[in-house]
Amino acid sequence: MSVIRKVRAVEKIFAALDSEIKIFQGTSQISCLAGCGKCCFKPDIEATPLEFLPLAFDLFLTRRIDEVFDELSTSEKAYCHLFTPKPLSLDKGSCGQYVHRGLICRLFGYSAMKTKNSERKYITCKPIKESQAEKVEAVNRSLKEGGKVPLMSDYYFQIRSIDPDLGTNRYPINEAIRKAIEYVMAYYAYRRRPPIRRKLSA
Ligand code: SF4
Repeated sequence: MSVIRKVRAVEKIFAALDSEIKIFQGTSQISCLAGCGKCCFKPDIEATPLEFLPLAFDLFLTRRIDEVFDELSTSEKAYCHLFTPKPLSLDKGSCGQYVHRGLICRLFGYSAMKTKNSERKYITCKPIKESQAEKVEAVNRSLKEGGKVPLMSDYYFQIRSIDPDLGTNRYPINEAIRKAIEYVMAYYAYRRRPPIRRKLSA
């Protein structure tokens, strides 16, 4: 499968998830705190290279792939390379590539995971738990009554089915991004660059 087809397949999954999250936000009325970037500061975020293939391909099309690859290769950041913290802030900032953020970035705060007993457990961050405690409690209750919340394992299963090599193993986020970039670089090392810059995602 070509890089372009894999990117389209990943973006199709992202679009379906974004719609499901919109519905969940509508029913739960849960939302991130404005300007909060606490989850992006986490030093141990893990992701698959495949979820960052759309980012790597966009960097290739916009001729920034070498620059970002070099930055990643020399970066000593413990947190995500794409994150820009607000000056003098330990929990505020923004994603420099929000449109191309990974699957983990979309799921975190708005999804559930399956426990060993096959129960679904809503996964969200401390700021949301503390600032919207009643709404979080209502979500936990609704899960016990069959309420719908995006399921992490469902989406990782879909991603893996596109390309098990790129979509199974999880790495620290900067390494996952670097591996996605390496994949696109290798793919186009002996292939012609796509004729025109086509915006694959809105
Ligand atoms: S890709 Fe963006 S949203 Fe995801 S961790 Fe990095 S900065 Fe945060």
